[in-house]
Amino acid sequence: MPYAYDWLVVGAGFAGSVLAERIASQRGERVLVIDRRPHVGGNAYDRLDEAGVLIHQYGPHIFHTNAQAIFDHLSMFTAWRPYEHRVLARVDGMLVPIPINLDTVNTLYGLDLSSAELEGWFAARAEPVSEIRTSEDVVVSKVGRELYEKFFRGYTRKQWGVDPSELDKSVTARVPTRTDRDDRYFADTFQAMPAEGFTRMFDRMLDHPNITQRLGVDYADVKRDSLARRTIFTGPVDEFFGHRFGKLPYRCLRFDHRTLDQEQFQPVAVVNYPMSENYTRITEYKHLTGQEHPRTSITYEYPSDAGDPYYPIPRAENAELYKMYEALALQTPDVWFVGRLATYRYYNMDQVVGQALATFRRIEQTIPRAVPT
Ligand code: FAD
Ligand code: UDP
Repeated sequence: MPYAYDWLVVGAGFAGSVLAERIASQRGERVLVIDRRPHVGGNAYDRLDEAGVLIHQYGPHIFHTNAQAIFDHLSMFTAWRPYEHRVLARVDGMLVPIPINLDTVNTLYGLDLSSAELEGWFAARAEPVSEIRTSEDVVVSKVGRELYEKFFRGYTRKQWGVDPSELDKSVTARVPTRTDRDDRYFADTFQAMPAEGFTRMFDRMLDHPNITQRLGVDYADVKRDSLARRTIFTGPVDEFFGHRFGKLPYRCLRFDHRTLDQEQFQPVAVVNYPMSENYTRITEYKHLTGQEHPRTSITYEYPSDAGDPYYPIPRAENAELYKMYEALALQTPDVWFVGRLATYRYYNMDQVVGQALATFRRIEQTIPRAVPT
């Protein structure tokens, strides 16, 4: 029996959608995209809520990259709204910039240091660490224990359910320390939001005559149907293999979305709560989207162990377990594993797009096209 499709793409997030579009438009092959959620976009999905405010269903997503090629690729499917992300942290009853910068320290301690003086101030407090291995080492070796405890220890314990000393250094290393007054969360060359939202961008990407979408469909329900010769899988890799080596730990989140009868709730898009409260951060979307509306919508994020998988947890033992699944994945013919869950990597959106485009190049090099061009 001939296959109904050339490719089955499992997951309509960045990994699946970028690949589906490339295969459909560049190879002329027939692609079926499924997702067990009732929408496209994966975790970047945004929608108008009941009040008509554009919100991110799965927490704040801000696009940033240093890669021109990745920015150009997505620009085929969206115009952009320039946006530089700024975050404040509620510490000792004050709202101060995070990443920690000159203003953070001067405000918190009532000082008037210059950048050069702040370097000395940090140096006097930094704890020497012979080998920086953990997420605790990264911070205490730069700014000392007090700022580590105020900004990182509590937040990280909430977010990951483990102490920073048990997490790979790469986690807190995502957040730099600055001695100047730059209060942008990201320093990347390109920082922008899709002008009409992420979901609109995904709709355009997947709007191709060679692409069929079936939403609300789980891979488990169709995998025996032999719908396509080849599969791109972007869900959790351990789930694909029936958890045969045990479950890979993922951190989950619960989102509490609210709409308020006021125009603005907080001064910036995201306020972090590193010291107390059960939630890690509150996001107010209108800062991200530029939408004007008499009401405003916000989201509280509560991390948890149970629920949908959102974050792979970067720790040595998890990396070991992932390696076993990766070895299996490499031996599985006609299936490509791509994206944050399928390759168990704490990737940002741009990194997933980069990984998907690299996968497409590999496909082009190794798989003859079904449709000669
Ligand atoms: P996903 O978006 O997770 O897509 C995978 C899809 O596969 C999902 O829709 C899922 O439903 C589907 N699926 C899984 N298993 C199956 C199955 N068995 N059958 C059918 N469908 C299945 N990145 C940034 O660059 N900037 C940010 O500001 C940012 N903020 C973030 C905030 C939060 C709270 C989170 C959780 C992530 C954030 N990210 C951010 C990361 C970003 O979400 C990811 O890099 C990106 O969305 C990953 O795309 P993906 O396609 O790999 O996975
Ligand atoms: N982090 C922290 N305090 C903060 C901000 C970040 O401790 O105020 C740590 C925390 O462990 C977090 C990690 O740095 O998970 C990475 O932060 P980022 O904002 O990149 O997380 P994401 O947006 O991916 O959830």
